Amino acid sequence: MTALGRHARSSAEAMGRLGLGRVPMILMYHGVAEVAEDPNQLCVAPSRFGAQMTALRRLGLRGVAIGTLVDAMRAGRQRGLVGITFDDGYVNVLEAALPELTRHGFTASVFIISGRLGGTNEWDEGPSWPLLAASQVRELAAAGMEIGSHGTTHVRLAGLKPGELETEVAGSRASLGELMGKPVRGFAYPYGSMDATARCAVHDAGYDYACAVETPMSDLGIMALPRVYVGQQDGAARMAAKRFLYRGYIAAKGIRS
Ligand SMILES: [Zn+2]
Repeated sequence: MTALGRHARSSAEAMGRLGLGRVPMILMYHGVAEVAEDPNQLCVAPSRFGAQMTALRRLGLRGVAIGTLVDAMRAGRQRGLVGITFDDGYVNVLEAALPELTRHGFTASVFIISGRLGGTNEWDEGPSWPLLAASQVRELAAAGMEIGSHGTTHVRLAGLKPGELETEVAGSRASLGELMGKPVRGFAYPYGSMDATARCAVHDAGYDYACAVETPMSDLGIMALPRVYVGQQDGAARMAAKRFLYRGYIAAKGIRS
């Protein structure tokens, strides 16, 4: 085993591996807006988002930020909680998602790209949507939402050179920490792209947890929390199905990836 391999192995053990039975349900959103064109299916209409939050409540669930969920897991109190996340940090999260979340007494984690504050989703081919500016990120935090990092520029972390990995992971934590005036706990891998080196970098940079998308079963853990996509087509019945089939879904995705 190489020195890097050994490092990966020992850090992975320190990073809180999770058996499938302890994996919490975490929803992955991007934007909440009525949009004409959405080839990557990133947006949910505000009315649909509201109905999805109502569906969670009717299932006896409370939507929470991932920091809150991780604390509850550590204390053995995660029952009845569902994690809610937004990647990229679109302005429409502040405008349209926040009022609904607040109405239900829910919180969420919003993962921000530290080097693109006030910019747009230039990395996507397709429609351009505005990203939160620094003052708007603070506004979300003041309203009770958790701010996490989604990297510095939005690149795939798997296979990235060490210097670039450092900039994306530790660099974004430093600059968001400065912006928020407190340490940033969470990271979400852009495109869900990660490998053992990336997970170690996230852990070593001081993050407390990280969200992936599809996670191989052997990698399930606090530094690779799997998430399920929620889209415009997800009505109340499909939200209930996600709830009851979640672990089977995570296992199936994890075995395939
Ligand atoms: Zn993203």
